[in-house]
Order: sequence, then C-alpha cells, then structure tokens
Amino acid sequence: MILNSLNPAQQEAVQAPLGHQLILAGAGSGKTRVLTHRIVWLVEKENISPFNILAVTFTNKAANEMRSRIESMLSMPTKAMWIGTFHGLSHRFLRSHWQEAGLPQSFQILDSDDQFRMIRRVIHALNLDEDRFPPKEAQWFINGQKEEGREPHQVEPRDIAGQMFIRIYQAYQEACQRAGVMDFADLLLKTCKLLQTNATLRAHYQARFRCLLVDEFQDTNNLQYEWLKLLAGENNAVMIVGDDDQSIYGWRGARIENIHCFSKDFPGAKIIRLEQNYRSTSVILEAANALISKNSGRLGKNLWTEGKTGDPITIYAGFNETDEAFFIVNRIRDLRQNSYSLRQIAILYRSNAQSRVIEEALMQFGIPYRVYGGLRYFERAEIKDALAYLRLLTNLSDDPAFERIVNTPPRGIGDRTLTTIREYAKASGLTLWQALEQLLEQKQFTTRTETALLSFVNLIKTMIERTLALELHKQVEYVLYASGLIDHYRKEKGEKGLTRMENLEELVNAAHQFTQEGVPDEMSPIAAFLAYAALESGDVQAEVYDDCVQLMTLHSAKGLEFPVVFLAGCEEELFPHYLSMGDPKALEEERRLCYVGVTRAMHKLYMSYAEVRRMHGKEAYHRPSRFLHEIPVELVEEIRFRTKVSRPQAMMSTYQPEPEGRFHVGQEVRHRVFGDGIVLDIEGDGDDMKVTVRFPKLGTKVLIASYLTEK
Ligand code: ATP
Ligand code: MG
Repeated sequence: MILNSLNPAQQEAVQAPLGHQLILAGAGSGKTRVLTHRIVWLVEKENISPFNILAVTFTNKAANEMRSRIESMLSMPTKAMWIGTFHGLSHRFLRSHWQEAGLPQSFQILDSDDQFRMIRRVIHALNLDEDRFPPKEAQWFINGQKEEGREPHQVEPRDIAGQMFIRIYQAYQEACQRAGVMDFADLLLKTCKLLQTNATLRAHYQARFRCLLVDEFQDTNNLQYEWLKLLAGENNAVMIVGDDDQSIYGWRGARIENIHCFSKDFPGAKIIRLEQNYRSTSVILEAANALISKNSGRLGKNLWTEGKTGDPITIYAGFNETDEAFFIVNRIRDLRQNSYSLRQIAILYRSNAQSRVIEEALMQFGIPYRVYGGLRYFERAEIKDALAYLRLLTNLSDDPAFERIVNTPPRGIGDRTLTTIREYAKASGLTLWQALEQLLEQKQFTTRTETALLSFVNLIKTMIERTLALELHKQVEYVLYASGLIDHYRKEKGEKGLTRMENLEELVNAAHQFTQEGVPDEMSPIAAFLAYAALESGDVQAEVYDDCVQLMTLHSAKGLEFPVVFLAGCEEELFPHYLSMGDPKALEEERRLCYVGVTRAMHKLYMSYAEVRRMHGKEAYHRPSRFLHEIPVELVEEIRFRTKVSRPQAMMSTYQPEPEGRFHVGQEVRHRVFGDGIVLDIEGDGDDMKVTVRFPKLGTKVLIASYLTEK
C-alpha cells in the first residue's frame, strides 16, 4: 500500500533495512515524497514508534507540509514525532532542558533587531567607538562564528580589530546570559554544547531517536551538521535527502561538502539516485537541465520525465517594470478564465524590493495575493521608518511617527529621556514635539542629552526647509539620506542590509511613479502619497487559506511546487545579482537559484524582464539575464510588448552602453555598497571602463564604471 505510488528506486529507498541512506537526486524526483513515505514505512512495517523519529527541514512551511502528509497516511497520531526546523527543534530541546543549559525557565529569544540593539549597548558599555566597531559588523561577526560553532574563547584573532570583535562577542554573550535571552544561532549552539558536555542527556537522546531524516541536506552548515551527528550517535539510522544543484545558502555558511562528508561520517551509507521527475513537463525539465549543465563541479545527474511535452516557456520582454507587472497580471486573468485557481500560481523574484510594482498591479485588478516569508512592501520596518520621517515633516504632532524615529537611526536619545518627554507631554496636554521644544527651553536635560535632542530637532527643521520646494521623489530621496537611514542600513552587512537598502531606494521609485500618475488636486503630493502608503499597508493581505496568488523570493520557494510559475526580473545585475558579478562561485550559486526557480513549475513557466527598470533611484538598462540565453531556443516562445517576435531581435535591442567619459581622476563618486570614494585611475572605455577608486574605510578597489554614480 505504502509502496504503490512509488517507482522502483523510490521503493528501494523506502523499504531499505534500517541503516544510513543518502538520497541524491534532482528537483521534483520525489525526494520529499520518499522521506515522508519512509517515515510511514518505519512506523507501520518496522514497528518504530513515532516517539523514536526525528525529521528536520529548513522552513516552517515545509515542516508543516511534511507533518500533514505523514498524518494523512498514518493511522496513529504523530505528536510524539519530532518534525521541524533546526531552530524549532533546538528550541523544543532547550525548553525541556533549560536547567541543564543554565538558562532561566522563561528564557526569551532575540530577533535580529533585538540582537542588534543589544550588541550596540555592549559596544557602548565597553567604551568602544561605534565608527570603528560598527554594531552591524559585530553582529555579522558574532553570527558567523556561532554558525561555525565557535564560542568566543575558540575564535583565533586575525589582528587587533579581530581581538576587539572577540571581546564584543564575549561581552555580548555575558549580557545575554544576564538578561536570560538567546539569539537564533544560540538555539543550535547551546543545544550542541549541552549534548557535547552532558553525557547523560546525549545518551538519552541517542537512545530515543532511532531514525533521523533530513530534507534539503545540501543547505546545512557546519553547526547544523554537528547537531545532527550529536543526536545520531553511532547506532541510529540516518537518511539524508538532497540535491547539490539546489544549494543556495552558501552565503550563509551552507557547505555542499557536507554531502561528501556524510559517507565518511556515517559508514555503510547506501547511496540512492532518483532520476525520474514527476513534477514538470518535459519542456520545463529540459530547460532546467540545460541551464544547470553550465555549472562546473556538479555531482552530476540527468533528470527525465514521462510527462507531457507541455507548452513552451514564455519569455516576455517588458519595456519597463510596470509593463512587466501588467503582463503578469493579464496572464493571471487569462489563467483564471482557463480554470486555474489563484493558489496554483506563484510569482517568484530574486529581490524583495521587486514585489512592490507587482503587488500594485495585482491590487489594481483586485487579485488577492499573499507575500510569503516576508512582509508586504509598505509594512517593512525600514519603509515604515522612512514614512515616519515624511509624516513628521508634514505634521509635527504625529506622535507615533515621532516615537518611531526620534532615535532611529540611533542618535543617543535613550528610553529615560523619552519617558521624560512623554510624561511632560501627557501632563501638559502637548504633543511630543511641543513637549520636547519646551523641555529644551527649560534646560531640563544633561548637556549630552541636550546635544542629541537639539540635533534631532534641527535635523527635522532643516528637512522641512530643504524639502519644501522639492518634487515628491526628490523629497523622499533627500529624507532617506539626510535622516541617516541609508547610511544606517549600509553598515548592516550581508543580504539583509542590502535588502533593506534596496527597499528604501524603491521608495524613491514609488514616489516618482506616484506623482507621474497624478495627484488629486486638493492634496499636497506628499500628503497624498502618505495616504496611499497607509492604505496600501492596511490589512488587505489575503489570509493563508484564501485562494490567492503566492508571491515569494526564489530562496523561500525551495521545496515547493506550483502549476504555474512566473519568474520576474530576469535581467543581468538583478538576476544574477550584481554582487555575484565577477565571482564565478557566486555566479554558480545564482544559477542554482535559477534552477530552483525553473523547477518549481509543473505545467507552465513564464520568465520576464524589463528593458528599463528604475533601480537605486534611477533608470537602468540591463541586458536580459544570461540564464535566459542558456535555455535552448527551441523550448522558448518570446513575446515582446504583446507581439510575438523572433528571439534574436528581442535580445539585441535591449543593451545600451554607458555614456563614455563620465568619470575623471579626482572625481568624488558613490558606490551603493562601499559608499563614497575618489577616482584614482580610469582604464578602458564604454562598457569595459574600469575605475580605480579609493574608499576612506576600505582602501582602493578597481570597479566596473557602471557600478558607480557621480556624487
Ligand atoms: P525538490 O527537489 O524540489 O524538493 P523533491 O525531489 O523533493 O523536489 P517531491 O516534492 O517529493 O520532489 O515530488 C515532486 C512531485 O512529484 C510531487 O508532486 C510528488 O507528489 C510527485 N511524485 C513523486 N514521486 C512520484 C511517483 N512515483 N508517482 C507519482 N508522483 C510522484
Ligand atoms: Mg523536496
């Protein structure tokens, strides 16, 4: 019965005698299906109790799906079974063993923002200069060390600055301990440490979990692998399931090498390959195979299907991002007429900021949607910060806006000062702004606090003066920079900081488009824009169970499948992402991400790009993504501005070279990640122009001209 719906290779994996197994197979070949069937087999045929089983995967959504698939096949409750994410299961473990772990019973978990604030306080307490030791960098350092499983005393300092970061790490750990809190990485780290040092507990859990199963194994990092080894011990059966071609978290420490280590660490592991794909049409599958074959050093496999040929992949060349969004929405309307339900349709993109234009188009046509694994654009923290500045500029009595930004970015205005202002305002029936002005007049603060408060008041006043005569999008741009928000997020290293900067820059685009589309007469553009943003962030998001289109980044789509997939923004610099340019390893990770995207589609795949896109506040022309060229022409139908054209034409006309002679030696220029610098040298011209720039904090770098703007 359990084996009925499986092919011979899958059956072999599901009914193998207890022991280690490595299932290495491509997308859609039934890996997750094998894993869930194996669990049912273990319980029903091997008489293993659900209590003895642990299954782990990467997202809560995937874990929930796994549990419900198992429940639907199994005749007994699965409650005793540990199914979850690495973080979720570690949390469960520590809740049971808080005493052994030296934690307070009610220990709390810090999210990334809380963690940042805590690290900042620690840096201040150590009397260190925030400019030399930016909290964001310290956060990046600390999380990186934790992901490698290293406690402060185990980190080798590279230089004097490195030593200071270790001190910050140490002090931060002590502060967490005192406050009874822990961060995400701690959940895993503390679980590992406890299992390493407490032999009784280790023996208990190793006796309990007789069978351990891991999905999406290609994305485990060192600490997660260590976690698995500790729980598995010597005698338990471990099944790992993965696909090296779908490893997309290298930037967060995931190691494909763990797949190679597995056979060594778990001797006798049986390797099973699955090659038949059940998910996609043969057109989609061939496209995916052709694409991924451009990567080097693969473990190698070839997927085939008995499924239908299917429709060609539609590539759409939009003339800008709005046109692209309307193409998608129009197609969704057609699909709906052809009896597809909305939940069968997914729109995937590389960067979070791309969702705004698509969300607006969907909203205009009243199509419900849900953004997965992220907030809707106008609800994101950094956007709310920026909007709060705009709100305070237009209305000094906007107390919630005042509260939100008075110390964002941090400018030394503490909770105690704020309480004083709040209480005074309340007692005298004033707004926070008025209260602040009066308290300043009365010289109620220490000199240090007064300086901080005055600089805030002056900042807001200057902003009001300077933005008065500006057009709306210039106003927004000015506020983003003058408020320090852009600099604040620039310091936040890694994907997250970058995402926030991209989102902020997207706000300038939103304002630009908003004014172009017309503002009602009776309102000032800024008031109209704020009203629009507030409405957009209202509770229009469809509930999980509603029939709605699913929007998510490619990263959060891993493991999922949809009858129809739209892959938007297939342009060089957007996808592959510009930070991967010139780095072959990073480019291969981008290609794997594209492979993940393509293989989510079951029946129909659309890929689209915009010839002009507003990015980082200006119009940019990018070539269509190289990934589009890597898909064989015969699998593709190309549509351009709603008329079919042949591929070469569509591909050639989109590239416009950078104007020559934009830069000269000695010029001040700006790079979105490295910040401001000075041109030292220029080589080549046009597309090949390379510019040597000295950045005050980072030293000298040679960059391609198109990554720079004049300051
Ligand atoms: P990914 O790499 O994307 O995680 P996967 O290898 O885990 O994919 P599954 O999600 O398990 O693949 O399966 C893909 C689809 O194929 C699912 O809809 C699944 O139900 C179906 N499928 C898998 N094996 C079979 C089979 N033997 N017969 C019919 N359908 C199958
Ligand atoms: Mg899967």
